[in-house]
Amino acid sequence: MQQPQTEQLTTEWRNLIARTSAEARDEVRVLARQHAAELTALFYREMLKDPASASFLSHEQVKNHLSHSLQQWIIALFSVTTPEELKHNIEQQKSIGQVHARVEIPVSLVLRGGRLLKNHLVELLEERNLDDTRRREASSLCYGLIDLALEIMCLAFSQSHDRSSRAEEAYRLFSISHNIRVEKERQRAALLDWENQLMFDLATGNTPETLSTLTGAEFGLWFRHKASHAFQGSPESNNVLQLIHEIDHYLPKLADTNSGIDTLRQIRERTRSIKYLLDSLFEQAGELEAGRDVLTRLLNRKFLPVVMGKEMHYSRTSGQSFAVLMLDVDHFKSINDTYGHEAGDLVLQQVAGILSSNTRGGDYAFRMGGEEFLVILVDIIPEKALLAAEKLRQLIESERFKLPQDRELHITVSVGIAPHDGHPDYQQLLQRADQALYQAKSNGRNQCVLLEG
Ligand code: GH3
Ligand code: MG
Ligand code: MG
Repeated sequence: MQQPQTEQLTTEWRNLIARTSAEARDEVRVLARQHAAELTALFYREMLKDPASASFLSHEQVKNHLSHSLQQWIIALFSVTTPEELKHNIEQQKSIGQVHARVEIPVSLVLRGGRLLKNHLVELLEERNLDDTRRREASSLCYGLIDLALEIMCLAFSQSHDRSSRAEEAYRLFSISHNIRVEKERQRAALLDWENQLMFDLATGNTPETLSTLTGAEFGLWFRHKASHAFQGSPESNNVLQLIHEIDHYLPKLADTNSGIDTLRQIRERTRSIKYLLDSLFEQAGELEAGRDVLTRLLNRKFLPVVMGKEMHYSRTSGQSFAVLMLDVDHFKSINDTYGHEAGDLVLQQVAGILSSNTRGGDYAFRMGGEEFLVILVDIIPEKALLAAEKLRQLIESERFKLPQDRELHITVSVGIAPHDGHPDYQQLLQRADQALYQAKSNGRNQCVLLEG
């Protein structure tokens, strides 16, 4: 389903096309096609003058790839006629926006690029021998279509950006909240304190108006301000907020002599539920917020975008290179089939152990899922990355993997290595590591393949 904003932009786009005469549309379509290469060249010339945009565009591969795709973009944008083409084109603008967010291109640069193209197109229109009405129509179409495309891009950009900010926030929590167990005990105690205080106040004859609410108590404050943020989006968290609200709602009813005890029971049931939900939240926090894969204790892949983003940024500013290793256990299915799933799990844990204890403190090891792992080797040149991968491969090959009942097993892994080549989109790097892994598998497994950019 389309989001409301996109729907509105689609309608505007459709209306713009509908109110422009076929002749003016043809004029612009032909003009865009004829001058796509020239517009792209102009775009590059201007954008490279600015060091801010140059840092994103100067990479050789970006230049080649982008010149081609920018030309295609210009041609496609002005050729849309059917609803299918429109839908396809809108999707394209969205995915461009997502790439921009991933690469962290400032929106202002994208807008500047759009402005350059618009102005030049309109200049080109001026040179054509057109009557005034047609020229006006054609110019509005140029401005309108580029503006709509940019708006859709920016929308997708900000949505991706928000998502990655949330992941970053979770990562930040993970990095600082080593003491999650302590926090849990403290907050359970705070909840208990509030309950005890309530009992004491009731026993000593306090009137309901003077009872302190759970919302305002230490626990309530902590939950509303910190926990609900940290556990954002989880259904348990919303449940706890609702229970706190309900409990406070019951407080005035404690004065009622007939139903006082029953009310107290309702409150008690709810504080119990909160404790239960809190356990479950902390359990999730222990694993998920901590970003660890439950089985192997390696980093969870949900933090991959954040870590890749950070390393890309670091590499861009420091000039240091890094490398990605994609590592997959060979014929793992037959290990499961022969020794059972549990034995398979034990093997995965031991592989993870080898990866973490044989990489440096600054490196990262992720479990991507199943029997596939990803290692980021920081501050490293490609030849060293190949050596490091080869060392890991050999260690695994020579390891005796322990199975239950004192059984042992030998396994091998295939590794794809992609050194960062300066391309600003990390997806491109991951794809290259995947390709390298695929090659290692098809060359016969138990080997490392390095794929330079
Ligand atoms: P290849 O050499 O081509 O990589 O072959 P493979 O058998 O390793 O690869 P394939 O993708 O065919 O099989 C992967 C198997 O990993 C299938 C799946 O049952 C198993 N697997 C995935 N996750 C887990 C897990 O968490 N624990 C265990 N024990 N097995 C898992
Ligand atoms: Mg495998
Ligand atoms: Mg696999």
